Amino acid sequence: MSQPILVITEQLDGSFKNVSFEAISAGRMLGEKSGQLLIAAVMGTDIEGIARQAAAYGADRILVADHAGLKDGLADAYIQAAAQLVAKTDPAVVVIGATSLGKDIAARLSARLNAPLAMDCVGVRLEGDHVVATRPMYGGKVLADVSLSGSPAIVAIRPRAMEPAAAPGAGEIEMVDINLEGTNLNLVEKHMETGKIELTEADVVVSGGRGMGGEDFSLVEALAKALDGAVGASRSAVDEGWRPVSDQVGQTGKVVAPNLYIACGVSGAIQHLAGMASSRIVVAINKDPEAPIFSKCDFGIVGDLFDIVPAVTAEIEKLKG
Ligand code: FAD
Repeated sequence: MSQPILVITEQLDGSFKNVSFEAISAGRMLGEKSGQLLIAAVMGTDIEGIARQAAAYGADRILVADHAGLKDGLADAYIQAAAQLVAKTDPAVVVIGATSLGKDIAARLSARLNAPLAMDCVGVRLEGDHVVATRPMYGGKVLADVSLSGSPAIVAIRPRAMEPAAAPGAGEIEMVDINLEGTNLNLVEKHMETGKIELTEADVVVSGGRGMGGEDFSLVEALAKALDGAVGASRSAVDEGWRPVSDQVGQTGKVVAPNLYIACGVSGAIQHLAGMASSRIVVAINKDPEAPIFSKCDFGIVGDLFDIVPAVTAEIEKLKG
């Protein structure tokens, strides 16, 4: 392999998403194995100041595409920028975080370049000149190794699936002019939820299901707050209109991999498990001892969540002093 490894990072409002550092670490591992340069691409508006952070994880070169047209986070503009950075660097492998925007960019790059793509990977390695990515299939029941033929091989890695590892690189910064003419999307209105921890990046997730019985999720919110965690929901809770779609965990929602996942009043349907099975420790609170979630958890509490959740929260607050 004689071409570089390109990692496309993602930042929001001037802060890198953690998955960017995970992606750079994965890219560094590939770069070390192949003896090739690791290039990190940083895209956005007014981002020159943060770009250097990519060097701490091993980037040899950092390409900065700083353009006012990238301010609104529109995929249309980001794909143009990403395609120009790929054309400039001619990489053997492109690594990107499998976030909403990352998946959009990865899929469109793949289509534009007629390049192979492995989405939502939990591992990546080189076997000879071939990139082999590990990705969950059948709702996480199977891990498949897929070998990518073609160039560049595009690998979108699942947030929190791989550890970011600090390893200082040269981090030579280069500003790159990009052309965003011909982008057709315009932002009309933007609704931001502030002060909310992003589900896919959270260290702790507390989810509520249909067992919550209604839109009052204050018990789950209080427990999540006590643990500095994020609130998730089953699809039933979302379909009922109790929680926004952005909170949904599962096959058709978000995939999370926190250190601690607490499921409150969630039965543990296969489609829900597909979104949280990679969590390190799972705690289930359910009044039905036969609920499937109990066969997938590390700790289970059989009982009424309306008694248990506040008691657990109070105990945590007591421990925190
Ligand atoms: P239920 O299955 O109704 O379970 C509620 C649980 O709460 C029960 O186990 C009950 O014992 C318990 N309970 C009730 N009251 C209390 C109480 N007071 N205290 C303690 N426990 C209590 N689902 C997802 O979550 N995410 C997805 O992404 C998703 N995608 C899907 C995609 C497809 C194509 C399909 C067909 C389905 C999908 N589903 C998804 C739906 C999934 O099959 C389940 O219907 C859903 O996960 C059930 O949600 P739930 O566990 O909240 O509700």
